[in-house]
Parts: sequence; C-alpha cells; structure tokens
Amino acid sequence: MFETPAYAAADATAPLAPTTIQRRPPGPSEVLIDILYCGVCHSDLHQVRDEWGGSIFPMVPGHEIVGRIAQVGSAVTAFSVGDAVGVGCFVDSCRTCPQCRAGEEQFCDEGMTSTYNAMARDGSGPTYGGYSTRITVDAAYVLRIPDGLPLDAAAPLLCAGITTYSPLRHFGVAPGDDVAVVGLGGLGHMAVKFAVAMGARVTVLSSSESKRADALALGAHAFAATRDKATFKALAKSFDYIVDSVSAEHDYNAYLSLLRVDGTMILVGIPEVPAPVAAGALIMQRRRLVGSLIGGIRQTQEMLEFCAEHGIVSDIERIGIADIETAYARMRKGDVRYRFVIDIETLRR
Ligand code: NAP
Ligand code: ZN
Ligand code: ZN
Repeated sequence: MFETPAYAAADATAPLAPTTIQRRPPGPSEVLIDILYCGVCHSDLHQVRDEWGGSIFPMVPGHEIVGRIAQVGSAVTAFSVGDAVGVGCFVDSCRTCPQCRAGEEQFCDEGMTSTYNAMARDGSGPTYGGYSTRITVDAAYVLRIPDGLPLDAAAPLLCAGITTYSPLRHFGVAPGDDVAVVGLGGLGHMAVKFAVAMGARVTVLSSSESKRADALALGAHAFAATRDKATFKALAKSFDYIVDSVSAEHDYNAYLSLLRVDGTMILVGIPEVPAPVAAGALIMQRRRLVGSLIGGIRQTQEMLEFCAEHGIVSDIERIGIADIETAYARMRKGDVRYRFVIDIETLRR
C-alpha cells in the first residue's frame, strides 16, 4: 500500500479538507493511474452532504477521473504506461449477472461498486474517488481517452457525458426530433451538445434567464425561461423528448404537459425528495416517464469515440482543489458554466 494525497469530508457537515489515503499496488488485472483532472458532479455534493442517505465517511468524492497509466498489472494487455485513460462512476461489478454480461454494469444484480461512497467487493473497505492523486482500478473498468480530446475538458464526459448520451441513444433520439433539456448545468449542457450532434431540434428550459446566450452558443435552437408560467402554455405538447437534469425539487407534471403524444420524459436529475406524478399527465397523451443511470463501460467508450468524431467536450471552469467548497456553493445556486474540473496538480504541490 502507498500513501496518496486526497481531499475528504469527515462527515456530512464537515468541509472537505486535505488528508492521506492508502492505495494498493496494481494486481495482475489492474492498473495504477496518476490522476490529472477530476470533474465535479452534483452527485458529489448530494453524497458528501448525505442528501440521498447512507453515505460512507470519510468520503473522497470524484467520479469524472482522467489521468495517465503509471503502472500495469502483469495480465493487462489493453493499456500501457503513459496512456490517457478515464474512470467513471463505478470501478467494479459482479461480472456474471445478465446486465454485467450485456455490458450494462451500472444495473448489476449485486450492485455496481461506485468509484467512491461504496464498499469494495474484496472487503478491503470503502472506495475513494478522484479528489486524489492516484487510483488503482481493474483494467476492465478503465476507459481509453481518444487522441485529440483535451484531457481536462474530457473528464466530465465520464459521468455528465455518458449520463446524457446513454438515454438519447437508448430511447432513440433521431434527426428532426424535438428535444427539450431542462436544467443547463453539467449534465444539461452535455445533453444539448449530444442531442444537437444527433440531429435533434433542441430547446433549453432553464430557471436562469442569464443562460440564454450560452444555450444558443452551445447549439440549442431555442431557449425558454421556466420561471415564466407562460412558457408552459406556449410550449404545451411541443416535444418528443425531455431530458430532465434538475438537481432540486420541481413539478414533473408541468414538464410532462410539454410532451406531445407518445413523448418521453427522461429523468436523470436526482432531487433528494420524491415528487408526485399525476396519472392524467401521462395518460392523456400516452406519455412515458422514464429514468436512466449513467451507462455501461462499452457504451461509455462508444460515447468517447463519438465525442472525438464530433469534437465534443465539456465547457469547463478549471479550479484548484482548495476551491472545492466555493464550487459546491456555486453549484447549489445553479451557477455552473458548465462543469468545474479540479486540476489535481494542485493536490500534488
Ligand atoms: P448541476 O451542474 O448543478 O446542474 C443542475 C441544474 O439544475 C442547474 O444548473 C440549474 O440549471 C437546474 N436547477 C433548476 N432548479 C434548480 C434549483 N432549485 N437548484 C439548483 N439547480 C436547479 O448538476 P449536474 O451535475 O448536472 O447534475 C444534475 C442532477 O443529475 C443531480 O441531481 C445529479 O445528482 C444527477 N446525476 C444523475 C446521474 C444519473 O446517472 N442519472 C448522473 C450524474 C448526475 P438552470 O440554471 O438552467 O435552471
Ligand atoms: Zn456524476
Ligand atoms: Zn453484475
């Protein structure tokens, strides 16, 4: 084992602070990664403040990890020292259940092993994430970052990217479809880029009027303010799909009314409290309300190749690790443009 600098929260109310964690030397099928960048997901904030319950402390968050291979285990053939790689939201799963065999490890019958805030399958204790300088991961759960993608702006692809790419693909968004993206944050801005690249006509529905120009610059065709009640009348029955990435409590029924017949509303945002859904909001136009959880390893690699092909990365604001609490506070207010990415070099100094 070797000591690794990290940032951790001691409990749900403690600010993140410098600490040291133990990482294991890579086993035969594992790689050791020197972490260069780690994106800051709203899920980090939900979990570090225990908003979903069951959080494990101390917690080292971070599941949008990009770095370079520092060591490879004896049986690893897919990666070499120096390769640019990524690690997303999970680092292990059972590998034998139907979902694991189908490459949808996020739905593992035994539960995926999250990159942090989970217990490792080998009984060695809690997993610690990317707010640290190094991580040891089984090569089967490591992604290759295609040449040409800037490593800092590629980090958010490992969660915000795959979480929005996966449902757009799975539910079959096609050229000409009308897609609304609710909430222009980390996930939302990636949803806009992907839906536009897939040929959809995209409308951003945002609580922040100040994001109008950005939405259009990101490629959206239209913008509507959700604080204005007239928006919901004007856009009734307008969309084939809605991608809802809002992190806080809001009225699902109001957004369902914007779907046309057979339209699909995809929940990816995970507010801490449940919200009521009126049967009529679904029944009247035979609408679908669905959810989607990140994506499997195979599809994450496919998404990265799609990004390289289409020149897609995240719009990021690079921060030092010491600014993490400020970033969380801004995220809480919806003031993210459009993903904070920690320069892990600031943790090495
Ligand atoms: P984020 O960057 O903070 O963006 C969330 C956006 O929601 C905000 O920028 C804001 O956009 C909007 N919003 C509307 N009302 C809000 C309010 N009252 N308070 C705060 N924001 C409000 O978050 P994110 O990283 O994209 O994550 C979004 C949600 O997805 C989180 O709940 C996260 O846990 C979840 N998530 C789910 C998955 C999955 O697999 N399903 C994966 C990753 C994250 P406007 O200013 O445009 O309104
Ligand atoms: Zn995430
Ligand atoms: Zn499994």
